[in-house]
Amino acid sequence: MTATLTDLSQTRVTGLRCRECGTEYPADARHVCELCFGPLGVAYDHSAGLTREAIEAGPHTMWRYAPLLPSGSDPAERVDLGAGWTPLVRARNLGRVLGIRELWVKDDSANPTHSFKDRVVSVAATRARELGFTTLACASTGNLANSVAAHAARAGLRAVVFVPSDLEAGKIVTTAVYGQTLVAVDGNYDDVNRLCSEVADDLPWAFVNVNLRPYYAEGSKTIGYEVAEQLGWRLPGQVVIPVASGSLLTKVDAAFGDLVALGLVDEAPYRIFGAQATGCSPVATAFANGWDAVRPVRPSTIAKSLAIGNPADGPYALDVARRTGGAIGDVPDDEVVAGIRLLAETEGIFGETAGGVTVGTLRRLLRQGRLDPDVPTVIVNTGDGLKTLDAVAPVVGPTVTIPPSLDAFRAAGLAEENR
Ligand SMILES: *Cc1c(COP(=O)(O)O)cnc(C)c1O
Ligand SMILES: [Zn+2]
Repeated sequence: MTATLTDLSQTRVTGLRCRECGTEYPADARHVCELCFGPLGVAYDHSAGLTREAIEAGPHTMWRYAPLLPSGSDPAERVDLGAGWTPLVRARNLGRVLGIRELWVKDDSANPTHSFKDRVVSVAATRARELGFTTLACASTGNLANSVAAHAARAGLRAVVFVPSDLEAGKIVTTAVYGQTLVAVDGNYDDVNRLCSEVADDLPWAFVNVNLRPYYAEGSKTIGYEVAEQLGWRLPGQVVIPVASGSLLTKVDAAFGDLVALGLVDEAPYRIFGAQATGCSPVATAFANGWDAVRPVRPSTIAKSLAIGNPADGPYALDVARRTGGAIGDVPDDEVVAGIRLLAETEGIFGETAGGVTVGTLRRLLRQGRLDPDVPTVIVNTGDGLKTLDAVAPVVGPTVTIPPSLDAFRAAGLAEENR
């Protein structure tokens, strides 16, 4: 074990704290409260303050926010493939189509393994190494597997990643290539997750989203920090975020809260919206029915990266949406495909199915009058369409196939500008 109280005193981490009853624990590999079985979060002491200048002097990665993260206070100890500081793109064309005056896309497909999961894995893998673990593991819907395998390869750790066996080829290959151990489980994500909880109790492995989940979750805050900094240190009025376990959504809210508390942005009202696929929409269903609890479902959707039927942070995501005046919406799979195409055709950004869920839900929430078209709005594209080609391959393809002759090309009638 290399983690000592000395190294913790250099960070602002004071320990772990139960999100339900507030009981405090040391900052080791644990995620459940022994008293009430509530989930644990990371507790900080930010009395030392933080300035915009100090952040701006940092690297152009998520690690520019290291003082706000629970690991990696020593840069040499970070497991870092360069995640974060992804583009925030002003989406004028998509905004015009949808009638939104100021729309932005935070494009997290630009991360090293092409999804936002690199942020959470970089933080968790760094903490795992600080705590002396040599095996990194995870239960994944796909993108997490890619990212854990890649970060382990770079860090010289062993990785064992567990995925549902029916995953897209684009996520199996992009995990297996890193030469780590890939366990395909005959079951859905919730089955995989349950198995991983049992393995985590049995073996001294760092499961990034099980026993290291409190640290893992903190990595998602960096999307919120970056959005605010890239907007010129201001909070957007509305944000639309895809929901799987619900963690990312709650952490964007936490990030905005941190920035206000530290005086890094002016306090301003913001509303947080969540997006799910109708075929796996337990949080949207709870929102629509006014429930506090989230009833588990059996997922059936092309948006496999979001296919968590029993979302760990579902109740917290509901809280955030209700408290901020947002909502959790959902869209059927045909609108997911339409959303992928709309983002690609208007902005040149090819998002994965989760991106299609987000664009489709954005459109629905606008039609329902839940989103205000006159308020600056950010949507998050969390992954790369190249990993989910199956979703769009049936509906896009060559405009025409011709023999290699000028006559044939002319006959195809493509010369006119406004074909
Ligand atoms: C994991 C994932 C999400 C959502 O993550 P949660 O924090 O579990 O809600 C969104 N988009 C993509 C592409 C993902 O892989
Ligand atoms: Zn508790």
